[in-house]
Amino acid sequence: MNDLKTELNKMSSGFCGEAYTPGDTGFDEARAVWNAMIDRQPAIIIRCGDTSDVVAAVKLAHSQNLPIAIRAGGHNVAGHAVCEGGVMIDLTQMRGVEVDPKARVAKVQGGALWRDVDGATQAHGLATPGGLISDTGVAGLTLSGGIGWLRAQHGLSIDNLIAADVVTAKGNVVHTSANENPDLLWALKGGGGNFGVVVQFEFALHPFGPEVMFAAPIYAVEDGPGPIRAWREFLAKHGDRVSSLCEFSTAGGEDFPEEYWGKRVYTLACVYNGDAAEGEALLKPLSDLGDMVVDFSGRMNFCDVQQLFDTLMPAGDYRCYWKARYLADLPDEMIEMAMKNAMAAPSDNSISSLWNFGGATAKVAADATAFGDRSMGWMYSLDGVWKDASEDEVNMAWSRDGWSGAEPFGQKGRAYLNFPGHGEDNDALTRATFGENYQRLVEIKTKYDPENRFRFNQNIKPKT
Ligand SMILES: Cc1cc2nc3c(=O)[nH]c(=O)nc-3n(C[C@H](O)[C@H](O)[C@H](O)COP(=O)(O)OP(=O)(O)OC[C@H]3O[C@@H](n4cnc5c(N)ncnc54)[C@H](O)[C@@H]3O)c2cc1C
Repeated sequence: MNDLKTELNKMSSGFCGEAYTPGDTGFDEARAVWNAMIDRQPAIIIRCGDTSDVVAAVKLAHSQNLPIAIRAGGHNVAGHAVCEGGVMIDLTQMRGVEVDPKARVAKVQGGALWRDVDGATQAHGLATPGGLISDTGVAGLTLSGGIGWLRAQHGLSIDNLIAADVVTAKGNVVHTSANENPDLLWALKGGGGNFGVVVQFEFALHPFGPEVMFAAPIYAVEDGPGPIRAWREFLAKHGDRVSSLCEFSTAGGEDFPEEYWGKRVYTLACVYNGDAAEGEALLKPLSDLGDMVVDFSGRMNFCDVQQLFDTLMPAGDYRCYWKARYLADLPDEMIEMAMKNAMAAPSDNSISSLWNFGGATAKVAADATAFGDRSMGWMYSLDGVWKDASEDEVNMAWSRDGWSGAEPFGQKGRAYLNFPGHGEDNDALTRATFGENYQRLVEIKTKYDPENRFRFNQNIKPKT
């Protein structure tokens, strides 16, 4: 293979980023991603400074016939951001956010994190739906859906994506919106990183915050499912205003009463998508469903809510295997299974959650976005999180078994593609999840990436 750095310079008249090949200082740091299990060696890592650097990186991959991995926040648990032997395009220096408060639009660079967006938009009293952890990348989260605290009123992240600039496989910069190349925008709304490098996203913004109501009453698993059943009935009435998840975890630390340390608990975590005082009154009954372990509910700043869970999951500290499936409904049997799985988790760092849908998320037609069917009422996720490599097998088995066990309650075998395990179920899951949209995605993939240069993702194979 030719010297890749020399070849990269030939592709660009003014490369302003950095490039690392194996052995360079900074190479190991640049190839590390959030999941400590991922240990891959790209042939070259190109840390881009601007769009023309991304074009040069894509042209290099094309000229050398190498595959491309794209890194934004680096949170993908399967480690799709880093590849063995290919070109890794690193967007960590491209995190700019520009807000037009009048038009209520944010232009967000392809390597931004959600905390960049929240900070810039909240400065104008505006917000767009992101995720639950502020250092997750905007790109990866959005391109496969984006499930966060504003979904009840404003849907998924993709439902707020109005335009994008994409560097496609041959190095062309393509603008996509409802009027220009609309097929590409449709595909980006759930189809993942299959179609090129998104260098800029444009999101619609909504007035929200700064003060919002966050509810987090915590109950003990050993005290039974009563509060979860009541929460389910509550959400059936208020799911168009309340974004929520029941999160199973292990109590510990000084915020919890000592008698609960080491015990399995669950939080009925909710964000009211509206006025904080109204939300406080509405969510109050959730703190009165039985003997609470502790209650973390209160009115708080939206940016703080967006960062509340950050310390639970620091980058690079843990080994991880996460799976999730959509559920048609949430019968008592599924609740009981989720409680049993929580009790059986081999690691105290693992969490598992039941997420509600409905509201604005459910109002989008199945063929309106690549994401597909919105009739799922719930999602069940199992986040296996542990420290020691000798415990890989038992922890991965916990996530997988819990995921398989929930299949009878599932929604047509569909899964959330942003919690893909380590990618081993890729093809079957991708087809089942996209359902009737799959063939259209194949057409669009074939148009924009006929050689499957972008294949480290929930891959949609182009026609041969
Ligand atoms: C701690 C943690 C919390 C999470 N919380 C949530 C949550 O609340 N809600 C939720 O919906 N998901 C959540 N997720 C899942 C998350 O959405 C996925 O892991 C997602 O892939 C992360 O995006 P990223 O940009 O950080 O990842 P990366 O690993 O950088 O990228 C993942 C993949 O996205 C694609 N990609 C990245 N950047 C681009 C780009 N600019 N253009 C084109 N393709 C690109 C590529 O295929 C890449 O391989 C969470 C994950 C973690 C680890």
